[in-house]
Order: sequence, then C-alpha cells, then structure tokens
Amino acid sequence: MNTITSEIDFEKEVAQLVKNQRRYFKTNVTKSIDFRLEQLKKLKKLLVEHEDELHQAIFNDFGKSKYENQLTEIYPLFDEIDTAIKNLRKWAKPKSVKTNLLNFPAKSYIVPEPLGVTLVIGAWNFPYNLSLTPMVGSMMAGNTTILKPSELPVETSKIMARLINENFDPYYLRVVEGGIPETTALLNQRYDKIFFTGSPNVGKIVNKAAAPHLTNVTLELGGKNPVIFTEDASLKVSVKRMIWAKFVNSGQFCITADYVLIPKSIQREFLELAVEEIKKHNFSLENHNYVRIINERNFDRVVSLIDQDKVYYGGTYSREERIISPTIMHNVSLDDAIMQDEVFGPILPVITYDTLDEAFDIVKNFEKPLSAYLFSNDAATKERFLREVPFGSGGINDVVMQISNPNLPFGGVGNSGMGRYHGKFSFECFSHFKGVLDKPTAIETNLKYYGYSEKQMKIIKKLS
Ligand code: NAD
Repeated sequence: MNTITSEIDFEKEVAQLVKNQRRYFKTNVTKSIDFRLEQLKKLKKLLVEHEDELHQAIFNDFGKSKYENQLTEIYPLFDEIDTAIKNLRKWAKPKSVKTNLLNFPAKSYIVPEPLGVTLVIGAWNFPYNLSLTPMVGSMMAGNTTILKPSELPVETSKIMARLINENFDPYYLRVVEGGIPETTALLNQRYDKIFFTGSPNVGKIVNKAAAPHLTNVTLELGGKNPVIFTEDASLKVSVKRMIWAKFVNSGQFCITADYVLIPKSIQREFLELAVEEIKKHNFSLENHNYVRIINERNFDRVVSLIDQDKVYYGGTYSREERIISPTIMHNVSLDDAIMQDEVFGPILPVITYDTLDEAFDIVKNFEKPLSAYLFSNDAATKERFLREVPFGSGGINDVVMQISNPNLPFGGVGNSGMGRYHGKFSFECFSHFKGVLDKPTAIETNLKYYGYSEKQMKIIKKLS
C-alpha cells in the first residue's frame, strides 16, 4: 500500500470482508459436517492438482527442492487434511459425560461448536504448512477463515492466494496478501479467533489487538530450543538425528536445535561425529537438501551471529546466493551474541557443562522454549528432564520428529506461545465446547427449594 487513500480503501475492503464472512457464518451453512467434509476434500483435490506449481513457487522463493517440500510441507499438510476427513464426524459428535446424583435423572453432554470468523496469520519458514494447516483446522471446526500468509516468500503467498481465491467463496475462505500495514489493517477488525504463527514480539502485537474484543487467540511462537546430551547418550545415532534436524530448511525451523549442551568429557567426540555427519549429507541446493536464507535481512542477521574465532566447522557464506554453510561454533559462552536470541539459521552453538544441574539451570534461565530435547539412556535423567524443564513440545533421543505425529499436540508455552493444534487438537483449537445439562421434566425433588436446613445440606453434599 503506497498512499493514504489506498490504505483507507484497504481498511474498508477488509471491514467488508469480515462483515460478509460473519453474515455467512450466521447462516449456519459452515456448521454442517457434510459441508465441512466437502470443502476439505475440495481443498485436497486442488492442492494435489497443483502440486507441481506449489513446488515451483517455493523453489523460486528459497531454493527448496520438490523432495524437501514434499517431506516437510506437502505430505504433512495432506496428512492433516486426510486425518480430518477420516475423523471429523467422530470429533464433531456431542460427547456424553456422567451426570452426578444431584442432577439425576438428567443427561450431560459436551457439544462442540465453531467459533465464527477466524483470522490465520502465517510465518514464512514453512509457508504452506504454517498457513494452510491452521486454515484446515479452522475449516474442520466449521468456521469461516481469512488467511494472511507471510509476505516474505512472495511466490508461495501468491499461489495460495490464487488457488484459494479463485476456487472458494470469499464469504467462506479468503486469502489476503500483504505485510505489516495489511496485517495491521486486518488486526483492526473483530474476529472470533485469531491464530498467529511468528515471533514472540509480533505475537504480543496480535494479543494486544485481540484484547479489546476478548478474541480467542492461539499464538505459535519461537524461542531458544536446547538439546541436552548426557554422558550415557548413544552418541553416534543421537548426533545423526540431530544434525539432519538442525540443517534441514537451513536451520530456519522453529522447533529445531538452537543450542547444544554437552558434558565436557564427550565434547571432542561429539564435535568429530557432528562434522562427519554434516559431510555425509553434503548439504547443498544441488543435492535437494538445503535451502537459501529467506532474504538479505535475515541473511545479515544470521551471519552477524558467527564468531569466526569460535567456528569449529563451516562459517562460510555467500550473500549473493543467500547461502550459509552448516556451521558449528564451540567454546561458546552464554554472553556471546549467538546466545542472546533465537538463531533461526544454520549455526549450531555448543556449550559445555560439568553437572546436569548446571545444564538444567542454563535452560531454565531462558524463556520457556518452544521445544527441548534430551539425548540420554538413563530413565532417571529422562524423568528429571520431563519434570523440571518446561517446553512446548519436544523429544527424548530425537529432534523435531514430534511434529510428525498427528496424535501429539503442537504448541508453545509462556514466551513461546499459547494453545496447541494438529489433528484432533486443531479441531479443539478452533472450537468451543458447550457443556450441557439436559433434564427431563417428569420428576423434581424439593431438595434445593423452600429454605435451607442442616439435613438438606447433608443430602446435597452427599449427592454432589
Ligand atoms: P514474524 O513475527 O516477523 O512474522 C509473522 C507474521 O506476522 C507475518 O505474516 C508478518 O507479515 C506479520 N507481521 C510481522 N510484523 C508485524 C507487525 N509489526 N504487525 C503485524 N503483523 C506483523 O515471524 P517470521 O519472521 O515470519 O517467523 C519467524 C518466527 O516465527 C521465529 O520466531 C520462529 O520461531 C517463529 N515460528 C514459530 C512457529 C511455530 O509453529 N511455533 C513456526 C514457524 C516460525
């Protein structure tokens, strides 16, 4: 948007769009399960038919290959749609729950209902997945949706807008493209649900915009994700798992390893194995297993975190290509620039520790991370990790793979977000659950009526 007039026009357009979606939602059309299933199937068909174009667009944006796009974006998204189609009738059914004696002979049940008009704001690093997966959640729950994908991957934003806007009723689904001014205009409207993926700083802006309307908000944010190794870890396989997870998507992955905590005694072996593993992958665009940094601003930010004196491996880059080689930094201290904020790029800082207490203290002194990982074979250490370290989702003896299980909730805690989604949790995320007591009128006791007595209270207490 360049001029004040176009800003005003855009605000008006957005206000009208929200109004139209609200009016449509009130017709109850989107609440029908058949309608929801039909729309989900239509979306899947559309994406399957245009899969090649989806691959081309993301390749143009940051060099992501077809295989990596299938692995990290398209297949998980298809899986989410298929899981919804398979389970929706079951999830959307009212669920009976026990009725207490005090309310006898009533029935009690929980009725899921859609929230209304949803705004989904996506992040750029997995542009399809982080925009369309929450949109699918909103659709399965029976809402109308306005989707604002990230503006940074231009081509992917464009293709999502084209496919959806040309094939769906705007009163039901609409993609609105744009950056900060457009998102600000969108946030000036009232929604029944806002689902945001991005940085904690912008998450606060979103939460503030939602507050005057008490709009239900889910915030999928980021943080510094620790990976703690213990001396008894199966080092070879652990390093193999972690290195792939760290450098896939060039480290532009909200749940990947941000930094490693390693006992001093095994640091040398760890570093050697890590380098061996990086070399085996031969990460590059040509090998279809590496991507560019999304833009020059992010490239400059990530490069500025590299302290060449502490580089153990890698540390090379090309601004022209927007490529940073897989980099490991050692002898890192908590005061270093790289430990001040989320890395979100292909640099892995390694910090040594003497005792597990020290390692846990380091983690707990940061904000609660989106993810945390432990590599250990010791049951007591695992138990301690789960009890003491707060995190959104995570893993023991693996990194990032929790995201691939649709039966696990995905979301942050504290500074890394609020709310959760994926699979059934997406349905819950975009629904309200009405608690209903349904009483027949044939019988009525006088227990709660006509004055209180010790005897009445005793009976009520027993029946409650
Ligand atoms: P971002 O916060 O800069 O942008 C996210 C979205 O907000 C974009 O659509 C953008 O247009 C919009 N936006 C940016 N600034 C805005 C402003 N001032 N006002 C209104 N809207 C604004 O985040 P990003 O750079 O796209 O993504 C990186 C961050 O997202 C990292 O912190 C990462 O950890 C986090 N992330 C989290 C998840 C998750 O699932 N929890 C997934 C991916 C990324």
